[in-house]
Amino acid sequence: MYRSDVVEAEGVQPGAVVLVQEAGDTGTKRHAGKSARAIPTLSDKNVRPTRPPVTRTLGSAFYSTASEIAVRMISPKPVNDIEQLIRERIRAAIVYRERFVQDTNAYRVIFSEGDFLPGLIVDKYNDILSLQVLTQAWDPDPMRNIFLSELRVALNPRVIVERIDPRVRKLEQLPERESGIVWPGNSPKYSNHEDSFKYSNHDVIPNRFSGEEPGVPGREAGSSSFRSAPLLGMTSGERGATGASPVEGSTPAITTEFQMNSVRFLYDALGGQKTGAFLDQRENYAAAEKYARGEALDVFTYQGGFALHLARSCDKVTGVDSSRPALEAADQNAALNGREIDWIEANAFDLLRDYSDAGRKYDTIVLDPPAFAKSRQNRDTAIRGYKELNLRALKMLRPGGILVTCSCSYHVSASDLLEVLASAALDSHRNLRILENRGQAKDHPNVLGVPETAYLKCLISLVS
Ligand code: SAH
Repeated sequence: MYRSDVVEAEGVQPGAVVLVQEAGDTGTKRHAGKSARAIPTLSDKNVRPTRPPVTRTLGSAFYSTASEIAVRMISPKPVNDIEQLIRERIRAAIVYRERFVQDTNAYRVIFSEGDFLPGLIVDKYNDILSLQVLTQAWDPDPMRNIFLSELRVALNPRVIVERIDPRVRKLEQLPERESGIVWPGNSPKYSNHEDSFKYSNHDVIPNRFSGEEPGVPGREAGSSSFRSAPLLGMTSGERGATGASPVEGSTPAITTEFQMNSVRFLYDALGGQKTGAFLDQRENYAAAEKYARGEALDVFTYQGGFALHLARSCDKVTGVDSSRPALEAADQNAALNGREIDWIEANAFDLLRDYSDAGRKYDTIVLDPPAFAKSRQNRDTAIRGYKELNLRALKMLRPGGILVTCSCSYHVSASDLLEVLASAALDSHRNLRILENRGQAKDHPNVLGVPETAYLKCLISLVS
């Protein structure tokens, strides 16, 4: 619920749990049934709703005093015990993964609205948990203690790291904080060597986070936003005060190896060469591998997610990306799997233009670009970008070839992408049969009625 929908939120503290009531009696409301008041819950004893009457209670929510999304619903009922609710939801999220996530030890454990825990994201890479706090509600120490303790008990990680996106903290008016280890505590300051700067996402790896516009949870690889990583503090109540200054001791290794679909990957949560994965593509990798054949080109390969899978079903695989550090990590992953893959550092648009003009041909092409539409405003430009890429790729596919085309722009819908593909097919005089119309992996649950939880599209087509 947007700030403009809230007609009253007197005395509500940043990140508070509020009771949301429909405000039917106000002249300021914009559209019927949309305006609401946020009432501090009774635990906030000194603040009371001031202006009844209200028509209807909509439920409980987290309130943000800063974000455009002022109200994020957490329950259709009043919530009396937020700790119990959070613990139950985390346990439910884990049970869901146990039931539906297979063939991997790397997956998203908590997907914000997708797990009814709006503003919290937790990824698991083998024995490391990597979390992101996206809203005011999750930032205070008591709240951190709740979710950290629940995650530790349920998943028994070796290390928990927090990844900070400074833009998100700024938007939520949260104090500055740096990426680092949040558990175990007593860790010394993480080294701030030069590579952290060189490989920082802001410099070289365009962020795929599509949540520029409020309300879009977005997508992001584990690599982003890491720079140096000083001690963030301990789990207070268990190990003493939070925010303690760095102390001597051994740093838990924040590198590990994980696998998905039996393909091995390196993970370095905070170090110089930050690695990670687009976990949301896990099931699409396996699907693409099934259809792929011959000579393959993986465009926007990042650390080789598709390329490494295609290498098991294709004769020759080339991965393209504009980020050298990403390709270096991709090459290490290839070595880990005993695969020979060619990597090309290039701007994908230039490369596809040159290759298609030169009459190069492939049997399989994967297009998995970053989110071109970061907001509704640049949807049209984004659609032109997708069209250009798909047109070039179609020109380069041999008859019987396979096109895997993806979009992680929330603002470009599944039907938009189909339209783009249809128009590219028309322009290139190719016939396409859609073999699979796919979305994000099931550890990024798509909740019916919460459109923002569906953002990734992946179409696999047979081109003749
Ligand atoms: N397919 C990857 C994810 C791709 S993320 C996987 O499954 O893991 C998008 C990638 O596009 C990033 O690695 C980024 O470096 C790259 N990129 C962004 N703009 C680019 C451009 N113009 N040309 C080539 N690569 C680009």
